[in-house]
Amino acid sequence: MYKTHNCGELRATHTDLKVTLAGWVHRRRDHGGVIFLDLRDRYGIIQVTVNPNASKETLEHVANVRMEWVLQVSGTVHKRPAGMENPKMATGEIEIIAESVEVLNSAKTLPFMVSGENDLPDENTRLKYRYLDLRRERMTRNLVLRHKVVKFMRDFLDKQGFIEIETPILFKATPEGARDYLVPSRLYPGQFYALPQSPQQLKQLLMVAGMDRYFQIARCFRDEDLRGDRQPEFTQLDLEMSFVQRDDVLALVEQLYTELIPTVTPHKKLLSSPWPRLSYRESVERFGTDKPDMRFGMELIDVSTIFAKSEFKVFQSALETGGMVKCIVAPGCAEYSRKEVDALTESAKTFGAKGLATLAVTGEGLKGTAAKFIKPEESEAVKSITGAKEGDLILFAADQRAVVNKVLGGLRLILRDKLNLANPNVMAFAWVVDFPMFEFNEGENRWDALHHPFTAPTGDLDGDPGQLRSRAYDLVMDGTELGGGSIRINTPEVQLKMLEILGMDLDAAQESFGFLLDALKYGAPPLGGIAFGLDRVVALMAGTDSIRDVIAFPKTASGADPMSGAPSPVGQRQLRELGLRLG
Ligand code: ASP
Repeated sequence: MYKTHNCGELRATHTDLKVTLAGWVHRRRDHGGVIFLDLRDRYGIIQVTVNPNASKETLEHVANVRMEWVLQVSGTVHKRPAGMENPKMATGEIEIIAESVEVLNSAKTLPFMVSGENDLPDENTRLKYRYLDLRRERMTRNLVLRHKVVKFMRDFLDKQGFIEIETPILFKATPEGARDYLVPSRLYPGQFYALPQSPQQLKQLLMVAGMDRYFQIARCFRDEDLRGDRQPEFTQLDLEMSFVQRDDVLALVEQLYTELIPTVTPHKKLLSSPWPRLSYRESVERFGTDKPDMRFGMELIDVSTIFAKSEFKVFQSALETGGMVKCIVAPGCAEYSRKEVDALTESAKTFGAKGLATLAVTGEGLKGTAAKFIKPEESEAVKSITGAKEGDLILFAADQRAVVNKVLGGLRLILRDKLNLANPNVMAFAWVVDFPMFEFNEGENRWDALHHPFTAPTGDLDGDPGQLRSRAYDLVMDGTELGGGSIRINTPEVQLKMLEILGMDLDAAQESFGFLLDALKYGAPPLGGIAFGLDRVVALMAGTDSIRDVIAFPKTASGADPMSGAPSPVGQRQLRELGLRLG
């Protein structure tokens, strides 16, 4: 037996117990003959004390020991002498007085310290030595948290009658709006499997098969430009249900998270229960986005009517060309310096604004770039509708509706971070519903499905596609889209119609989705489901910005794996076997 206990589990109640532990040397200190070794395993760290009167063999072994060597230590649990306790360590009341120390393995000097969060190298180096990076306590904790979240989800869904079913990784293109990863087939030269962007069609088929309630911790592959925090492969909690309406799916998910958060991360609080539900339109109008962060106010307020007769050119021209004027109020920012206002203006421009009009409500009256263009009755009306008080800064956007919402929605988040308006320990879940079914893709001159083409539409299918709504829903939290789903189409006629609006003729639809269209002819139940990015949920629960921190072996932000060197070239022979030639 290598060990009787884990390093992190011993406490003062174990005093006088003889134990054998195994782990890594976290730290080593020499105090005039007494050697202190902090021994670490996944469960924690404990101090091992090697006294000068230990056996000659033990002293010899310990003499060479360096950081991160692997040791087996036998000894007795002792209370630390009074005053020597370390309240920062869970095991800080005790130490192990070593009787024997065996070296199980040595270690080269590590490329970076694993014993803290300081002096970390760049992320590439951390990923190159990911097996060392994961030794760090924070990273270990993240993986344990991830496990707990997944276990909770599995248990919860099991109790609700769901069964976990695996679906293939080698499959056919599944349109979720991204590029597919392709895998060449050796047995069918010139033909390819596609890695699933999600199990969407397969889970629908499972409902046709009568499985009633399916879930999967599913790996999804999307060959997207890796902006922000995306990964080429990521994990979803994917589920699908038969004989359900939208509210059945929403209620289930709401219950799942409402129980998950206090169980796994008790220090996090849900902002509200039941969760608010906003229509897509309402969300965009109030928060400037369909992923609202509802932990704080600063809502977008339409002041177009107040400025209907404005003499301010910027407002006038926006209103005359069918646009609008909206504003947000930044609390306590009236004294912002020129430089700070300029920085906000620059940000507004990156969101599409031509400029930024501001009004500072100060003790000496109104200031700001718009002050001299706004009439007193207009500013009074703005103050009254927004509730702006002395000390506040009002930011205006005047443009077409979409631009105004985007600009103020973007500034709202910048101010959130600048002014610390959102409590990081509060989780504000919300549903966004009633999405448009399609959005027009100007570049390609065609309609795109806002969710995916299997989402059930509402409205006149033969009318203007722009007017169709979908039975889709998104779950958002703290300004992030955690997941989305919909009630699905369950007849071949409607499915074909949707594909047709998306620009597919019958042959193309048959070629890509023939199997699904066929299945819908054999008695598909009413069905709906949802999927969440698991990585994102765990990252938010772990309090980290990067999903890479909660994935054991992630790719870099540019899609590479510095540890294995993937992606990497392959030999001629392999290419020949696959019937491929590089251009
Ligand atoms: N397959 C969808 C997605 O990956 C989720 C769903 O509609 O259930 O976003």
